[in-house]
Amino acid sequence: MTTKKTYERPIIKKLESNMPNKFGMRTIYEPMSHVEGKAVKDLIQQYGSPLFVISEKKIRKTFRAARQAFETRYPRVQFAWSYKTNYLDAVCKIYHQEGSWAEVVSGFEYDKAIRNGVEGSKIIFNGPDKSETDLRKAVTNNSLIHIDHLDELYMLQDIARNSGKRPRVAIRVNMDTGIHPIWDRFGFNYENGQAWDALNKIMFSGLMELVGLHTHIGTFMLSPAAYGVAASKLAHLAQSVLMKYNHEIKYIDMGGGFASKNTLKGSYLPGTDISPSIDDFAEAITSALMNSDYRPKNPPLLIIESGRALIDDAAWLLGSVLANKRLSDGRRSTILDVGVNILFTAFWYDHKITPAQSFTSYTEDTALYGPLCMNIDVVRESINMPLLNKGDQVVIHHVGAYNMTQWMQFITLRPKVVLIDEKEKVHVVRNNESLDTLIALENVPDHLVNFEL
Ligand SMILES: *Cc1c(COP(=O)(O)O)cnc(C)c1O
Repeated sequence: MTTKKTYERPIIKKLESNMPNKFGMRTIYEPMSHVEGKAVKDLIQQYGSPLFVISEKKIRKTFRAARQAFETRYPRVQFAWSYKTNYLDAVCKIYHQEGSWAEVVSGFEYDKAIRNGVEGSKIIFNGPDKSETDLRKAVTNNSLIHIDHLDELYMLQDIARNSGKRPRVAIRVNMDTGIHPIWDRFGFNYENGQAWDALNKIMFSGLMELVGLHTHIGTFMLSPAAYGVAASKLAHLAQSVLMKYNHEIKYIDMGGGFASKNTLKGSYLPGTDISPSIDDFAEAITSALMNSDYRPKNPPLLIIESGRALIDDAAWLLGSVLANKRLSDGRRSTILDVGVNILFTAFWYDHKITPAQSFTSYTEDTALYGPLCMNIDVVRESINMPLLNKGDQVVIHHVGAYNMTQWMQFITLRPKVVLIDEKEKVHVVRNNESLDTLIALENVPDHLVNFEL
């Protein structure tokens, strides 16, 4: 029996074939059939679609290059892994194996770092929400507590007084680095004197050990010069403390925020072309520190809490095409099984997306949607893509930072995460959710158990 072809309303649409654009580049697509030596097709078949894939090799390589960028320029450097950027245990442990301390911003993250085997004294505790219980724990474990506001400072003083312990503290400083708007909601301001005031309060109380100064000026920062300004300002505060109290600050923590190679929405050029390199950030920070007037007997340890720049390009999200359809204006749209609930960064990046199999050389302006029954579920508003068919697979690039922590269980269940190790062996490092994992947290009161329809 021959089945009749389904009728589709004809439209006239210009197909593009490797058109040069104003930069002289052509839109050239190569299929990406393998990730770290493994066939996309096989990975999806074995572990399901969608699937997060992390490369251990890439994580270590990027980390070592970043460490080298700083260590060649400055004598004493320490990295601390930003847990919120990606706190899968397997990922954290790679960074800890590479020598990174832990940088956490909540009680839950703090407990995770301890559970991962990080010594208390090598955990940096940031963030505006540290409960009294959290702080007591951190004081007992000798962790580095970065004070965010005066209420926290006073609470710590009480804990110090009652416990007889001397908390090791730093303050978080916010400042004008020439980048606006200023992130002034965290920590104490430099320009208006709040930071100096907090330092004096700490020194006068005599209850705490002032060990460091911290700043984290923003995220996805594209200006190394801003870090130079920030480092100079922290060095100036350190020098003021040295002059007034003859007290040496042991470390300067420059936070994170270095841009990854992703492309911000609305950006004219791709991130791979415009994001500064880690060397650029390292050069700005280390030269500002060394050129400052701060000259203690021992140079302060330089702490770096970089997150996204270290891990973004070490993970991919594999997905499959569910369907194609035409929008009312005739524009092509493709529905993927990857929603913004698991690809949270689609809200601010134009992710690079590559088909996983060969295709025609024609491309068409396409809207890429996710599977959610929600208007906001847009993976790319407009992307010049080769024509994909139902069942085809795609690779979404640079998804290592923030997706596996900010993702949410909404409409669909979260997929598996696999790690490909340096010998190209695949490990499931986070299982997919199931109905069981969800209902395990729920409880139905007796009177609601039964119903009749
Ligand atoms: C989030 C955060 C980081 C990491 O930021 P990235 O933009 O991922 O580099 C570092 N330090 C603090 C205090 C943070 O809140």
